[in-house]
Amino acid sequence: MFSKILIANRGDVALRVLRACKELNIKTVAIHSTADNDSIHVRLADESVCIGPAPSSKSYLNIPAIITAAQLVGADAIHPGVGFLSENPDFAEIVEAHNIVFIGPKPEHIRCMGDKIEAKITAQKLGIPLVPGSENDIYDFENAYEEAQKIGYPVLIKAASGGGGRGMKVALNEEELESAFTAAKSEAKAAFGDDRVYIEKYLQNPRHIEVQIAADKFGNTVHLGERECSIQRRHQKVIEEAPSPAIDNKTRNTIGEIASNAVSKMGYLGLGTIEFLYENDEFFFIEMNTRLQVEHPITEAITGIDLVREQIMIAAGLPLSFKQNDVKINGHAIECRINAEDPRTFIPSPGKILQFHSPCGLGVRIESCIYSGYEVPPYYDSLIAKLIVHGNNRNQCILRLKQALREIVIEPISTTIDLHRDILNTEVMKKGSYDIRWLENKLLNAN
Ligand code: ADP
Repeated sequence: MFSKILIANRGDVALRVLRACKELNIKTVAIHSTADNDSIHVRLADESVCIGPAPSSKSYLNIPAIITAAQLVGADAIHPGVGFLSENPDFAEIVEAHNIVFIGPKPEHIRCMGDKIEAKITAQKLGIPLVPGSENDIYDFENAYEEAQKIGYPVLIKAASGGGGRGMKVALNEEELESAFTAAKSEAKAAFGDDRVYIEKYLQNPRHIEVQIAADKFGNTVHLGERECSIQRRHQKVIEEAPSPAIDNKTRNTIGEIASNAVSKMGYLGLGTIEFLYENDEFFFIEMNTRLQVEHPITEAITGIDLVREQIMIAAGLPLSFKQNDVKINGHAIECRINAEDPRTFIPSPGKILQFHSPCGLGVRIESCIYSGYEVPPYYDSLIAKLIVHGNNRNQCILRLKQALREIVIEPISTTIDLHRDILNTEVMKKGSYDIRWLENKLLNAN
């Protein structure tokens, strides 16, 4: 087992990894920018290294500074957390080249799944059903036109290096195709430095359902059920729940087996998530994330399995602590992502938190780095807390979550807590009958 892990991240996920390390009796090293000097993960870590100024390009994305910090403190492994360098295959390779273990999949798998065109080709070879679409990147408008004709409108132009819902444009018909193609290409170039795009059928009312998998080096590959992530704004998840209210046990096992057989064939190592769109009883692969997910705690709540602990054990060359037959789904869990944003305009609202009161009670978990007196910096993602609630069944989970949302106080900055209260009070949420467009339409109608 490792003796010292450097956590190459910040915020709630840095704290999440730190807790898993403490349980495994592993020393922790926090890295931080000057903007995060007073962060809780920095205070709680055994050691900390300031690696640069506030902008992430100069700190949390600064590979030489991170490697130097790891060498300085003698860390034997680096956990990349979520976001930042967690899906950067070059970083994983550089870490390994310095004789430090990267806590994540093999670089070749990160690279293959990071290119969404290659990911789709790989998924198809592994027997995963795909959203109908182009097999290669679309090099010019003529090519886009031919592919769209084959697929049938509406179509979606997507960035090969896409992430965070960026570089994605819909063309409802032929007239909209050229502008969608041009806009997607330039957005992709600006966001990812890669303007390659591909085309997919734009599904009308699907749900986003993803399967959590884990694989160790002894050939044990398991699936841990699915997460339903259809409550989205701008193609970004807002609330997630597990299990999905839309599928039964038989379907759950079928899609879980498809996912775990595929990663087993790949020789994949570590945690991963295969994301699907689900429409008219059919699953369609959209991408694979080769890292821990923001929404991993809902899977932990219904399975009782500590995913970060397993992730560290796998990276240390140890076997998973459970087998597929041990995975039992118990009750229901929902996660609300709380952002420092205005709940109507979604304009970020960084600043000092003067009052923080955490909700409590059976089945209530908060993953957050905030405290009374904490200053939310303006430089990073606006996610400041995740509220995760578990109940014996979906109804109890919703009742507990509503109460937790009544109790929580984060003042005076604006947060999305009110948006969550609103969503939880709808009939659609009560029934679980939403799709990926429901929240966006609800917000449009409210304005
Ligand atoms: P990113 O990596 O940018 O998050 P994804 O491919 O994971 O992009 O898709 C994010 C979201 O965009 C999905 O959850 C879904 O809401 C929407 N989306 C993606 N592909 C399609 C599609 N073919 N049809 C309809 N919606 C889609």
